[in-house]
Amino acid sequence: MEYNTFERCDRMDIFCKIINGEIPSYTIYEDEVVKVFLDVNPDVNGHTLIVPKKHILDIYDMDKETLNHIFEITKKIDKLLREKLKAEGLTLVQNNGLLQEVKHFHLHLKPQYSQKQTLKKVEDVYKELTN
Ligand code: 5GP
Repeated sequence: MEYNTFERCDRMDIFCKIINGEIPSYTIYEDEVVKVFLDVNPDVNGHTLIVPKKHILDIYDMDKETLNHIFEITKKIDKLLREKLKAEGLTLVQNNGLLQEVKHFHLHLKPQYSQKQTLKKVEDVYKELTN
């Protein structure tokens, strides 16, 4: 997919700032189309967000090509979460409208575990995922 890397994410939302490198993030994967980083306030260890680099507001604003790519990357990240964190399943969540806190499309990846988990520091999960 073509993506102009010199084009900056042009809105002032927190995810555009992360994409433009103005705010740090625990990024575990990145390509021309998406940035994938750990949620700063995770529901579960390995709670990850896949975010398109171009500013797309929500599902109604989303194009097929980007959505297909996001789901390809979802499978890749799922594999990583299974290998590194021993996840045994994956829940996908994507809020639009009322429950969407950050007004920039993002897909939540929440790994599932059979054993009850203690919530770890995001930094420690990041180290496990990237070592
Ligand atoms: P929403 O309710 O919009 O679907 O979810 C927004 C998510 O973004 C929340 O889970 C929240 O913890 C996460 N989030 C908000 N601000 C930041 C941030 O600055 N960095 C990261 N990594 N995640 C954030």
